[in-house]
Amino acid sequence: MPGQPDPHMVPFEEVRTEDDLLPPGAEPGTVPTDLDQSTGLERFEILGKMQGVDVFDMRPLDASRKGTLDNPIVVKSAGDEQFAGCTGYPVDSHVTLWLSMSRDRPIERCPECGGVYRMEYVGPPDDPHANHGHGEEHADGHTNYEEPKTFADFVKPEYRGTP
Ligand SMILES: [Zn+2]
Repeated sequence: MPGQPDPHMVPFEEVRTEDDLLPPGAEPGTVPTDLDQSTGLERFEILGKMQGVDVFDMRPLDASRKGTLDNPIVVKSAGDEQFAGCTGYPVDSHVTLWLSMSRDRPIERCPECGGVYRMEYVGPPDDPHANHGHGEEHADGHTNYEEPKTFADFVKPEYRGTP
């Protein structure tokens, strides 16, 4: 029903894994919208826009130099994850590559030019709804560590430029 929250849809702020970005699909007999059908990064962008968050709205990045591991370009973020679009140095040396950083994995290196970015978390110190935990307790009693998934997994091949 238009205007009603769809119970099958995971809202933007609750997206944690790739599974949360699977679309609910259209109701039978209706024309599917982007929201019904889109997946992955595209879906993340749409969900963000519905919440008034443009996930690709880059704060001005420091484009005066190339980030290095010793001195990365700092990207401030008030959220758990932040995208940065790298076009190389000098600017526009290569097609925009979207890098994703998170509080768990703040450092990202552009596979094209090697520029290094680091997310600096500037949001609230603690968010009781967020799950930053490593080594979560599972129901079966043992503790697993899993490398967190990043949205880099969802970047479409065309965003990555020519191989
Ligand atoms: Zn780059």
